Amino acid sequence: MTKSSRLYMTHYNRGESYCPLCYASIVWRKVGEHKYCPCDRLPVLCIRDLGTNFRVVKNGEIISGVKILTPENAAGFVGENPFHALQPHIFTCTALKHHRKGGKS
Ligand SMILES: [Zn+2]
Repeated sequence: MTKSSRLYMTHYNRGESYCPLCYASIVWRKVGEHKYCPCDRLPVLCIRDLGTNFRVVKNGEIISGVKILTPENAAGFVGENPFHALQPHIFTCTALKHHRKGGKS
């Protein structure tokens, strides 16, 4: 058996129910034919915002161009149609965070 110790946006097989890098609890969502996206367990509230390339998983699809509700931007959600979606864990993994620039501090 090969066990992946890497984390990608999508995998061809479901992995463990925890992140191989930071051991956070994750869920696998099927996206497309034979792909699975490891996501955070807790859904986030987001709206479409084509000005971003942020991606979430909803209804078996990876949707790009969304904005995720945070305490700072909540005012911008007024009058929008927020929906719940799951964040791919690759964006929130604490083990990957220090390799990425522009994260929230
Ligand atoms: Zn992780």
